[in-house]
Amino acid sequence: MIAATMMDFPLTLSHVLERAGALFGSTEIVSRLPDRSLHRYTYREFHRRVLALAAALQGLGLRKGDRVATLMCNHYAHLEAYLAVPCAGGVLHTLNLRLHPDDIAYIANHAGDRFLIIDDALLPLYEKFSKLTAFERVIVVRMSAEANALGDDYEQLIAANPVFTPPALAETDAAGMCYTSGTTGRPKGVVYSHRSIVLHTLATATVDYIGVSRADTLCPVVPMFHVNAWGLPYTALMVGAKLAMPGPHLDAVSLLDLYEAERVTITAGVPTIWLGIQQALEHEPERWRLTRGMRMVVGGAAVPEALIRALDRYDLQVIHGWGMTETSPVGLVNCTKGELKDRGDRDEELSYALRTKQGVPLPFFEIRAVAEKGVAPWDGKTMGELQVRGPWVAASYHELAEGIEQWTADGWFRTGDIATIDRAGYVNITDRIKDLVKSGGEWISSIELENALVSHAAVQEAAVIAVPHPKWGERPLGVVVLKAGMNVTRKALNDHLGPRFASYALPDAYVFVAEIPRTSTGKMMKAKLREAYKNWSWS
Ligand code: AMP
Repeated sequence: MIAATMMDFPLTLSHVLERAGALFGSTEIVSRLPDRSLHRYTYREFHRRVLALAAALQGLGLRKGDRVATLMCNHYAHLEAYLAVPCAGGVLHTLNLRLHPDDIAYIANHAGDRFLIIDDALLPLYEKFSKLTAFERVIVVRMSAEANALGDDYEQLIAANPVFTPPALAETDAAGMCYTSGTTGRPKGVVYSHRSIVLHTLATATVDYIGVSRADTLCPVVPMFHVNAWGLPYTALMVGAKLAMPGPHLDAVSLLDLYEAERVTITAGVPTIWLGIQQALEHEPERWRLTRGMRMVVGGAAVPEALIRALDRYDLQVIHGWGMTETSPVGLVNCTKGELKDRGDRDEELSYALRTKQGVPLPFFEIRAVAEKGVAPWDGKTMGELQVRGPWVAASYHELAEGIEQWTADGWFRTGDIATIDRAGYVNITDRIKDLVKSGGEWISSIELENALVSHAAVQEAAVIAVPHPKWGERPLGVVVLKAGMNVTRKALNDHLGPRFASYALPDAYVFVAEIPRTSTGKMMKAKLREAYKNWSWS
C-alpha cells in the first residue's frame, strides 16, 4: 500500500469568495434596479460587503447549518447572500416567488428556515403567508420608493461593518437548498454541499460545456431561485466574469437593452424568454446590433428547433442544456463539438437535429437509459428512463421518507425523463414519465388539479394533460367528464381552483368528453389523451 501525499484541501465556497476578491477586484457587477436605473460596483466592494453581511448574520445569531431563506430577484444583494450565507456556515434557501403563498410557507417551514432576506417589492407577497411561517428575523433590502418599517434594514446591517469570524467549514457541509415541485406529491427539498457546488461550478465552466471565462459578461436571466440560477453566479465569481443582473425587468426589450449596454457575451434562461427575444428582434432587427455573437444557454425545457434556427439568424448561439433541481442542476450540455460538429457542418438538417438534443454528460456525471429489458444500448433509438449519478446528484430528499423510489437499488437517480442516447453520448429527451406540466419553466401538478376539479359539483372525472404551447412550451388542458345533466364554464372551473393554485397553474382551456380512456387496471391513459390533443389550437 502507498499513501497519496496530497493535501486534504476542502472544496468550499469560501475559496470562491476569497479568490474573487483577491484576483478580480476591478471586475464589475451591474444590477438593474426596480426603477430601471443601473447599480454598479466591483468585485472588491462585493467581497467587502459579503464579509460584512456574513458577520451581521453571525451577530444576529446564525449558527452552523441554520437556514437563511431569500425571496429576491436577480441582483447584487441576492448575489451577496449567495456567498455570505454559506461562508458564515449557514444554508442558503432560495424561495420561488412564483409559487402559491401557501406553498412558499410550506416549503419555508419544512426547511426550518430561521431568517429571511427579502426584496421590499416582495413584502406584499410575504404578507400573504407571513402568519403561516415563523422567521426569527426578516431582513429587508430596500430598493423601491415606498417606505416600510418591517424587519431589519439590509443596508444598515452591512453599514455597521461588523468583523467576520470565518467558521471552520468542511466540504461536505450543507451550503444551499432548493425545493422541487417537479415530482408528484409535496415539494421536496434538495440540500447542496460546498463540495457539490464547487465541483458543479468547475465542470460547467469548462469550454466544451457552458464555458465561462474572465473575458465574458454573464447575464443570468434564469431566476436565482431556480436551482441557484443553474450555478452561474458561482461560475462567474470563480472565473472572474463580469455580471449583468436583470433585476425584476425580464421583458425582452429590457433584456436586449441590458445586453447591449453592458456588452453581454453569455446569458441563460428558459425557452419562453428566448421566444420573446426572437419576437423583439424580428420586430426591430436593426435596434440591437451589439448582441451579435452572444451565447444563450437554454434549458429547463426542450428547445424547439425553430427557436435555434431563428436565433442563428441574429448570430445568437444556443447552448442547449438539461438539468434538474436534484442534479444541481446541470448534467448535460450540447455544444456539438468535434466529430458531430464536423458531420453537422456538412449537413444543415443534421446539424439542427443534433443541436436540438439535450447534449452529452459533464465530466463526473454518469448517465444510462433504462428500458423494460434493462440498460438500453447507446444506439440513438432505444428509449429508456434517463438515470444519472455523480458528485452533484442528490442521494435523498431533505427529511422525507417519501420519494425514496426515485433512487434505484444500485444507486442511480431516476429522472422521470425518457431518453435515447446515441453512439457519441448525445441524449435526446423524448418524453416524460412524471405526470406534470412544465409551463415557462415552472411545474404544474396535473394530479393536484385533477383532485381539485373532481371536487367541483358538476365534475364526474377529470384529467389534466400537458399540451404543446408556442409561447410557454406546455400549458395544461383540462379534459372533463361532466355529471349527468350538468353544465359548467371554464371560468366557473377556474374560479373553483383559484384559491388553491397559483394563477399560472390554471388550465387555459377545457374539453368536455363522454369518457376518459382507461387501462384495464383503471388508470387514466394520459399518453393517449396527450396524443389526441397534441395539435390543440390555443388561440
Ligand atoms: P427542475 O427540477 O424544475 O429543474 O426540472 C427538471 C426537469 O425539467 C427535467 O427532469 C426535465 O423533465 C425538464 N427539463 C429540463 N431541461 C430540459 C431540456 N433541456 N429538455 C427537456 N426537458 C428538460
